[in-house]
Amino acid sequence: MNLNNPFKYNPKTQFILRAIFILGMVLLQLTGCRSKIAVRPVQKMKIEMGTFVQISIYDEDKSIDYVQQAIDRSFHEIERIDKMASNWTDDSEVALINEKASTDTITINPELAYIIEKALYVGKISNGAFDITVSPLIKLWNVTDTMATILSHDDIVNAMKKIGYVYVSLKNNKLVFSQNDISIDLGGIAKGYAVDQGIKVLIEAGITDALINAGGDFTALCSPLTAGKRKVWIKHPRQRDQLFGYFKMDNGSVATSGDYERYFEVDSVRYHHIIDPATGYPANKSVSVTIQAKSALMADALATAVFVMGPEAGMKLVNSLDGVEGVIIYFQNKKLEYIVSDGLRGKFIKS
Ligand code: AMP
Ligand code: MG
Repeated sequence: MNLNNPFKYNPKTQFILRAIFILGMVLLQLTGCRSKIAVRPVQKMKIEMGTFVQISIYDEDKSIDYVQQAIDRSFHEIERIDKMASNWTDDSEVALINEKASTDTITINPELAYIIEKALYVGKISNGAFDITVSPLIKLWNVTDTMATILSHDDIVNAMKKIGYVYVSLKNNKLVFSQNDISIDLGGIAKGYAVDQGIKVLIEAGITDALINAGGDFTALCSPLTAGKRKVWIKHPRQRDQLFGYFKMDNGSVATSGDYERYFEVDSVRYHHIIDPATGYPANKSVSVTIQAKSALMADALATAVFVMGPEAGMKLVNSLDGVEGVIIYFQNKKLEYIVSDGLRGKFIKS
């Protein structure tokens, strides 16, 4: 049974809804997982990778022109990664891989190989909770804030035959799928890599104090000017415009995966964009997962993985990894609960 969106929109209405959705994400970003500081930065915001990306530079010893050029170069790099790894355009390198790679081996761009290799690593340590081959289900569920396709058991069983990160083999930039119909979706990791690359460009330009925030996935670079002053705020997953709590961070990356960013409700059931590869349904053990890691790529992938794993297995994984911390918010007996990793104990301050 395919119970599609009960509302049918013409293209113009769809465009307006999309614009409202994007504006909604700005509000999420402004009130959500963010960093607060007193020093006034040079800032620029653009829509990239389907979200608002903001670059803020706090260095005081450089001219505004110089800083603005560095910001533009950083945006350029983020756009480059998006073009390479996007799931939404037909001509990205990932789209071409999905078209060409099957059981034939193909040689891929080393940068893309790096991202896929890290994704496969997170797939392994999360016991398959993070799975870049989950794309058939992503496409079928097709969750946006205005619709979701309610799948039948048969739809899910059929789609799950085309899923399994273990069917992806990568060695020396050579990629092969050991089963037909496998395709990859880097939506749970590529945004993090784009932030890492954006920061790399800023560092190369001599910037010492900066923040790149890509819709809640961000990296902070700290100098003595801001040391001890940055707070990472986690958005309340159920009360719009409320903050759940914060922890302090000087240098590092943070990503949040939540069921409140892109979802659609049918008969009080929430359908959202993070799929549990074990069940084929949107993952339901967590409502919000914030991960701190040394790179935005790792924070991004682990946030998605731990979201699927849920508080128990997810926190066990976080605590087992060096340089990784996290906050998991979840429901228990219809009450919102949270747990923090060992390293954030006493440091996470609840609002
Ligand atoms: P994030 O917002 O970082 O949690 O990423 C969500 C995106 O990752 C989705 O829009 C999909 O493109 C992709 N995705 C969804 N479920 C999974 C999963 N279990 N493993 C890997 N990627 C996923
Ligand atoms: Mg992610």
